[in-house]
Amino acid sequence: MTKSQTLLKKYFGYDNFRPGQEKIINHILDQKDCLGIMPTGAGKSICYQIPAMILPGVTIVISPLISLMKDQVDSLNQIGIPATFINSTLSHVEYSQTLENIIHNVYKIIYVAPERLTSEAFLNLLKLIDISMFTIDEAHCVSQWGHDFRPSYREIANVILNLKTRPIVTAFTATATKIVKDDIIDLLHLSDPFTLTTGFDRANLNFSVKIPENKNNFISEFIEKNKTNSGIIYCATRKNVDSLFDEISSLGYLVSKYHGGMSENLRSKNQDDFVYDRTNIMIATNAFGMGIDKSNIRYVIHYNMPKDLESYYQEAGRAGRDGNNSECILLFSRSDIVTNKFLIEQTPSEKGHKVEYDKLNDIIDYCNTDKCLRKYILEYFGEIPLFDNCNNCSNCLSTTEITDITIDSKKILSCIKRMHERFGSSLVTDVLKGSKSSKIKSMGFDKLSTYGIMSEYSKDTIKNLIYFLITEGYIECIGDKYPILVLNNSANDILFKNKQVLIKRKIEKISKSEKSSLGIFEDIDYDSSLFEILRALRKEIAEKNSIAPFIVFTDVSLKQMCTYYYYDIIFWWR
Ligand code: ADP
Repeated sequence: MTKSQTLLKKYFGYDNFRPGQEKIINHILDQKDCLGIMPTGAGKSICYQIPAMILPGVTIVISPLISLMKDQVDSLNQIGIPATFINSTLSHVEYSQTLENIIHNVYKIIYVAPERLTSEAFLNLLKLIDISMFTIDEAHCVSQWGHDFRPSYREIANVILNLKTRPIVTAFTATATKIVKDDIIDLLHLSDPFTLTTGFDRANLNFSVKIPENKNNFISEFIEKNKTNSGIIYCATRKNVDSLFDEISSLGYLVSKYHGGMSENLRSKNQDDFVYDRTNIMIATNAFGMGIDKSNIRYVIHYNMPKDLESYYQEAGRAGRDGNNSECILLFSRSDIVTNKFLIEQTPSEKGHKVEYDKLNDIIDYCNTDKCLRKYILEYFGEIPLFDNCNNCSNCLSTTEITDITIDSKKILSCIKRMHERFGSSLVTDVLKGSKSSKIKSMGFDKLSTYGIMSEYSKDTIKNLIYFLITEGYIECIGDKYPILVLNNSANDILFKNKQVLIKRKIEKISKSEKSSLGIFEDIDYDSSLFEILRALRKEIAEKNSIAPFIVFTDVSLKQMCTYYYYDIIFWWR
């Protein structure tokens, strides 16, 4: 057994390294700079924590995840690895005490927020200690092409340059695009680094894209079926988070929320509630989740389509870190395209927005493709999958039905025309639906021949059809604050030249996903009521020791206990 294998077992309790981990560790121990590009949940932390225990001096870990540093350090201390952190949450007294301990070589690993790196006191401290390795976690933050650029990451290279001896420099990220990778090597001055990109495939994740008539109804039904499971629901805006949170909590579920408009204290309380299993559901913007090591997240639902596949895969990848089957569901609606385009236009850019639009088009294609979703993602990240169909995504598990919507399209287009192309999608929808609102009557729209001609449809369906015609280029949405619908020339082909309009809908074949949405552990026989008892006991132990429940036992371990107990009873009975 090598020293690193012994430490893997001794500190973390694992028998084997995951793909890539040992290679990186060996290169670090050979004094080489390393860049590890591994998907979320692949196990990047162990790649630097184990060498940190073997190298003679201290390892400094730069991480942007201030709110999680305490948890990370607590978990390390819990398993006997001496570690600490320096960030803005420390009081003056705690800070001085920590510096004192650092000087006396108490720790092997020191987590530092990038903003602290350039403080005078810290730079002086670095001169006094023996640093073996500098590790940059979430290294994509150095690149403006990464989805989470942090200007303070640009200082890191200089700080390292000014150390009395250059330590080994290692960087880790889950972002694999070439432009970000080149930026990391370049801007962090990695010296001829050993670069390892592990496979991005996460076989335990079931990917699906759904276009529900009503997203809130879909979510209510889904969480009712997954009551005892932990899950994250990502929304594009704070407003969406607030309203969905109100709705779900009014239904009586244990739910937390998280977004940038909330106070630091409330955010960290809500994050803890979720991580410590006091609530099951987290409704959040993308401000939540980076670095969260909660291994039993069984589903990640995206209420809106994110801006690119990098963000999507990173956020969705927070599901199923323990290797158990988990679901990643993207709820697509065509209005998400309009919102994302609007957001792109809001950010000033001298070079234009080509990169952002290209990325947006890629994720739109992901939502519309008929091909295997897992294959699509892997190819996007530059891999050549060895399969055509994964048989575990919504496309592989469904067939496509093509519906002719020419007549519906004609109704919509002629209604917009009759309203003189001066109104937005809500009012057009109301007219088509035949709303009895006073606004419609006062404007005389109830006299139009198109009034109520789609009354058999729900408003959501009509709106989705309108968005479909927008994304197909027949209608244009003009204006920022109150966008109005205007017909494009191509609309005439439908109205006057009998052009056919076809829409694809997916019909689930059989229900692997339905099966998994009914219970994630469907494939193994185990005693589910015993599982609930053990879960409650785990929560109690975790609370007593102020640690997260998954640190006591992962869901996998609990499930194993329930399996053995179940078989014991069967054998005894026989
Ligand atoms: P990442 O930083 O790549 O998202 P983490 O380092 O947080 O992932 O690890 C994700 C989970 O995988 C953690 O719960 C960790 O304990 C677990 N893990 C890491 N390495 C192994 C291993 N060799 N065997 C089993 N589990 C592992």
